[in-house]
Amino acid sequence: MKKTLIIAISFSLVTNGFSQTADSMMIKKISDEILTNGKAYDNLHHLTKKIGGRLSGSPQMVKAEKWGVGIMQESGADKAWLQECMVPHWVRGGKDKATCYYGGDPKHVKSLDVLALGNSEGTKNKDLTAKVILVDSFDELERKKDSVKGSIVFYNYKFNQAYVNPFLAYREAGAYRGSGPSRAAKYGAVAVIVRSLSGSTDNNPHTGATRYDTTLSKDKIPAMAIGLRDADWLNDQLRQNKILRLTIKTNAHFLPDTIGHNVIGELSGSEFPDEIITIGGHLDSWDPGEGAHDDGAGCVQTIEVLRVLKALGYKPKRTIRFVLFMNEENGLRGGNKYAQEAKEKNEKHIFALESDAGGFTPRTISFDGSAEQLKKLQSWVPLLYPYGVYEIVNGGGGADIGPLNRTLKTPVAELAPDTQRYFDYHHARNDVFENINKRELQLGAVNMAALIYLIDKYGL
Ligand SMILES: [Zn+2]
Repeated sequence: MKKTLIIAISFSLVTNGFSQTADSMMIKKISDEILTNGKAYDNLHHLTKKIGGRLSGSPQMVKAEKWGVGIMQESGADKAWLQECMVPHWVRGGKDKATCYYGGDPKHVKSLDVLALGNSEGTKNKDLTAKVILVDSFDELERKKDSVKGSIVFYNYKFNQAYVNPFLAYREAGAYRGSGPSRAAKYGAVAVIVRSLSGSTDNNPHTGATRYDTTLSKDKIPAMAIGLRDADWLNDQLRQNKILRLTIKTNAHFLPDTIGHNVIGELSGSEFPDEIITIGGHLDSWDPGEGAHDDGAGCVQTIEVLRVLKALGYKPKRTIRFVLFMNEENGLRGGNKYAQEAKEKNEKHIFALESDAGGFTPRTISFDGSAEQLKKLQSWVPLLYPYGVYEIVNGGGGADIGPLNRTLKTPVAELAPDTQRYFDYHHARNDVFENINKRELQLGAVNMAALIYLIDKYGL
């Protein structure tokens, strides 16, 4: 049996010039190994349940980095190390609260499910009470700007459900989380509440980073995300022209920057060791959940690619780096550091791939590079198709490899799995291990490993 296979490989090498058969056989081996002996799910269990949410600067970050180096070594890296970078150290500092008083009767009190936005300044743990002004959009904020002073602005911009791809809705609504606080502060608002960036049916608030823009306002006002059901309730009350007062309390604040690390594992190239291929996800995650989909999944898939290549005895031609980036969520310092050091050392980075869109069934790979390179990648789609990826399209790479693309013009790609459930969990307390499907997670790793194998073999 073995002999027949070898004959088949050499035959296809001779006849085709490139070895379609050998490649599909290798990818089948990758798939078999991951689907039957895969460690990604167990590794994710450890990362989420034994370590938990891993925000930059937190004790869990330190634990996760240490775990990361160990697991890279265990999975067969030729070398593994920590790359130091300074990271911002934002803390929630306690439980965020918002209480709504409506209708004048003391019985009419409702506690709302909220989370301070990442990088926001809180109320110094004191109650802040003000009336609420509802705005559906920035246009409406402009129309109501004269009545904003001294109030809490409630941005109720909804996810546009007409988009089949929820990432488009996220991008649009993201403007309110990002610049909403400073735009409201410009007109004298004392705080903002932002409808969570999600289209889910539950009431879990979704945090995420905000960005104060001091050119709009010097005041860094408190900012919170509110669960969708509570947002709908608040909206209904305000639409009935009720005057509502809200009392909020958050102790969010920054501590001085601290030391964090990217975790890097490496397989050295045998023919072109100076040509580097990077594959990664980000190790940090928001604090309310366990960072399972975002981005524990990308981390354990990255480690799984290393493990499977090693387990199959594959000797890469080029150097492959497996990177768990630090601080994607509220600073991107890890991604920036990785690119900066690559530039300083004059490294040649031929390709980078990230998984940071959840541990769901793989569907697409998006690519940012030349048309010629895209064409080459697309010629491999038939090899990936049996495992889920049915197209490779023009698009972005992940956030962490963006700096590599911008500084060294490295072509970058991202695994784009099924998008429909991602924003049910993203940055919320239900982004936990239990919401990951083992098979879907593994299939993501299969497609990533297959692509890395092809690029290592043929270059780009
Ligand atoms: Zn992420």
